[in-house]
Amino acid sequence: MSSVPSESYKLDERSSGTEDNVHEFEEREEVATFFVNMPSPIASICFGTALTLPKYFCRYCENPLALGEDLISKKFVGASGPAFMFSHAMNVVVGPKIGRKLLTGSYVVADVMCSKCGEKLGWKYVETFNLKQRYKEGMFVIEKLKLTKKY
Ligand SMILES: [Zn+2]
Repeated sequence: MSSVPSESYKLDERSSGTEDNVHEFEEREEVATFFVNMPSPIASICFGTALTLPKYFCRYCENPLALGEDLISKKFVGASGPAFMFSHAMNVVVGPKIGRKLLTGSYVVADVMCSKCGEKLGWKYVETFNLKQRYKEGMFVIEKLKLTKKY
């Protein structure tokens, strides 16, 4: 007697579950074509507004230094402790080239200073002599202690 209602309940559940799946799939497909058909400037406004604003600033004078999207790695270590590597930095002064032996090998680096307050922020990798480290050339390492993050 009790087995009849429970069986019909299971059947209902299965059929409604299938309908839901089909509905979900159709919705997802619509969203996808909407973005594909969008002209690319509009797409970049939808996805990229927050990313293109400066996110990292000089801790001492609030000079904007780097964008969030330019952050490559947080695993670097500078004189004062943790440091971040960026593919680009803005509003900085790059000092003369110096040969320097770092943990991962010998490099030609240049000190990087804030263009507004002159505080030494970190260094730029100018040249490396090790193929494995080539990706660092042209990149900026800024000590975390010298940065403040916004947005
Ligand atoms: Zn500064």
